[in-house]
Amino acid sequence: MFGFEDSDSDVQFVSQRMRMVDQQLVRRGIRDGRVLSAMRAVPRHEFIPEGYRQDAYKDGPQPIGEGQTISQPYIVASMTEHLELTEDSKVLEIGTGCGYQTAVLAEITKQVYSIEVVPGLLDKARRILSALGYNWIETRLGDGASGWPEAAPFDGIIVTAAAPQIPPALIEQLAVDGRMVIPVESGYFGSQELVKVTKSADGKINRKVLYEVRFVPMQGDVGG
Ligand code: SAH
Repeated sequence: MFGFEDSDSDVQFVSQRMRMVDQQLVRRGIRDGRVLSAMRAVPRHEFIPEGYRQDAYKDGPQPIGEGQTISQPYIVASMTEHLELTEDSKVLEIGTGCGYQTAVLAEITKQVYSIEVVPGLLDKARRILSALGYNWIETRLGDGASGWPEAAPFDGIIVTAAAPQIPPALIEQLAVDGRMVIPVESGYFGSQELVKVTKSADGKINRKVLYEVRFVPMQGDVGG
């Protein structure tokens, strides 16, 4: 199905990946050593349909089927860096998609929860993640806007689909001192901004706009 490459192309993919990390990430200011190691470790091409694999390490998003895309490597790295994760962090991802971002999180911490709303995408992601040995990832089919209350609170929450507003359940499930990154629709011509949300000890919510992004819209009831 998603056969692992023979050694020749494996070597090629590894060198493309190291170059991707140096040229697209380090050079543009990604500094977190955990993020850089994770991006060097995860075989991004394995998450991409066969016909597109030669483009896996290019500096852009790629199609992954069912009208969905895998984010540009820089965006994956930057969003992960903003989560400020350590090996002790518990993290929730909304929008498993092909599972690539999930694997990057799983390289950093063993406590990873990921929710996807499209059954076909989740099935495929589960198969790839387990074939690659990431068997500590918990996944669930459903609307991510309600979060994963039984596993809360989360030190990090990453949302990879754009919502008109931040779902209240996700704010609730963010730990004190936790970090959430989420693309939020900003109103004009489909533009979106990536927002970083933090929660202080007195329960105060802080919002900081990071930069403009373009994600697929979140499906379902996005929290009123
Ligand atoms: N992180 C992904 C990016 C996937 S694109 C990757 O690396 O491949 C966004 C994903 O969010 C899609 O798979 C889409 O089906 C999913 N999604 C959209 N709305 C959702 C919702 N309400 N709950 C959970 N997942 C959702």
